[in-house]
Amino acid sequence: MRIAILALQGAFEEHKQMLERLGVESVLIRNLHDWHQPFGGLILPGGESTAMMRVMKDEALFEPIRKAIIDGLPVFGTCAGMILLDDQHLGCMDITVKRNAYGRQLGSFQTIYNIKGIGDVPMVFIRAPYIERCGEGVEVLSTLDGHVVAARQQNMLACSFHPELTEDTRIHEYWLSTINGKH
Ligand code: GLN
Repeated sequence: MRIAILALQGAFEEHKQMLERLGVESVLIRNLHDWHQPFGGLILPGGESTAMMRVMKDEALFEPIRKAIIDGLPVFGTCAGMILLDDQHLGCMDITVKRNAYGRQLGSFQTIYNIKGIGDVPMVFIRAPYIERCGEGVEVLSTLDGHVVAARQQNMLACSFHPELTEDTRIHEYWLSTINGKH
């Protein structure tokens, strides 16, 4: 299976390396030409959601990405990638995300915490968002200090933190297993 990684800005290279460690081929998506390759899932990385929104629109990628996800393409959004999935951006996942939710003082921090179905994992938060509203079809996978930091809905998985910046491959493996129908 090949996985596409949106590579307009942000931490796409780290996701690519994570997939390499798992023996999974990836393709970087920078424009519409790249988009028209075969792949079985899409990663929306962390970075700056406003910049990614702008470039997605400039490159005419916004609508094709939105449509593909709504049509069932498996997608994994991390940090800014989670913001992109919410009802204010791509409008694919029935969640509302609060950007820069931890304020300046707590802008970046790390912890080890539980994700349903996976266990305790290291979580790296960098000017991170959290989910402030989940619709009915959304399954909460992790709530840290009262705030939802990981959730899934149908073909979509999202988390507030950066699993690609750790050595722990389990969240990527979990997402890949959902594509293969094992979860
Ligand atoms: N603060 C960024 C945003 O609002 C997200 C930060 C991140 O992806 N690490 O888009």
